Amino acid sequence: MENWDVIIIGAGSAGLSAGIYTVRSGLKTLILDEKLPGGTISDASIVVNYPGFAEISGGELAEKMANHCKKVGAFIHELEPVTELELTNEKKIVKTSSATYEAKAIIFSTGSHYKEIGVRGEKEFRGRGVSYCGVCDGPFFKGKKVLVIGGGNSACITTLYLSSLAAQVTVIHRREAFRAEESLVSDISSKGNVNILWNTEVQEIKGDKQVKAVTLIDNTTKKTGEMAIDAVFVQVGEAPNNQLAKAAGIETDEHGYIKINIRQQTNLPGIFAAGDVTNHPIKQVGTAVGQGITAALESYSYIRRPYYTK
Ligand SMILES: Cc1cc2nc3c(=O)[nH]c(=O)nc-3n(C[C@H](O)[C@H](O)[C@H](O)COP(=O)(O)OP(=O)(O)OC[C@H]3O[C@@H](n4cnc5c(N)ncnc54)[C@H](O)[C@@H]3O)c2cc1C
Repeated sequence: MENWDVIIIGAGSAGLSAGIYTVRSGLKTLILDEKLPGGTISDASIVVNYPGFAEISGGELAEKMANHCKKVGAFIHELEPVTELELTNEKKIVKTSSATYEAKAIIFSTGSHYKEIGVRGEKEFRGRGVSYCGVCDGPFFKGKKVLVIGGGNSACITTLYLSSLAAQVTVIHRREAFRAEESLVSDISSKGNVNILWNTEVQEIKGDKQVKAVTLIDNTTKKTGEMAIDAVFVQVGEAPNNQLAKAAGIETDEHGYIKINIRQQTNLPGIFAAGDVTNHPIKQVGTAVGQGITAALESYSYIRRPYYTK
């Protein structure tokens, strides 16, 4: 069994930042990711609020972070999902799809996933017209008619991005006002090919090989109708990737986010958490980076300092 000082689960903004600090503190560090390194920010078409980069694509920012982390000497195993954990003993056991490892401390940075709306046709047409990522799948629908579901920042950003590709973008929101930043809302209002339907929900997504239509319901009048559409972009928020943590006895809050204190400690000694999987109220790259750094330096203290308070 391979032995490590720290194993970081998830190579997104939080995990990569933690990796830079654990390696530079002299800790032998392994970062595991079920996908490629970079995490969720890779899905952002443009990032304009990360200090030092006035404007950068999410993919490029993610790549820069991963390269930086590798350059300082972290070992990153990509496409290796963690499947099981044993965390209650001094030596923590991490099982993956292909190996079993041992570590003195663990940093959980598994991020979150896009929420589904749970209607008929959503699972069936996922990847065939149902998408959760405008940047990833928008270019397939150049010149087509697309639907965006949601009313927050993600829905508005996706709408703006798609408005420059698709012929027509319809946004539906179950309430009668967006919850997004004002500047985004005014940008959307200025787009000639964006149409907004308030108090509206999807009842069913239909098609054959690909999405062809949706059934919509006005939740005030209960009137239903069918709309021809080529793609549906679901943007109704995120939920934490917490299954592993919960199964291993890590405490979560009522929404499933890992409970942490200001030092990124969880309820289990030697187990830290950082980024979108935690109950920190802000979910941004900058906060994920800061939490990752704290978790890394706390894991250093846990391993190396004899009087560390657990
Ligand atoms: C469309 C979009 C646009 C955004 N735009 C901005 C923006 O402009 N500015 C900003 O600051 N923030 C933005 N965000 C938010 C930002 O992306 C997140 O806050 C940030 O990526 C969180 O980083 P993280 O490391 O906590 O999680 P993530 O980046 O999600 O990384 C988690 C990693 O864990 C891995 N993982 C999960 N489970 C396992 C497992 N069992 N085994 C191994 N690996 C696992 C995943 O594959 C993933 O790589 C945006 C988010 C979205 C969705």
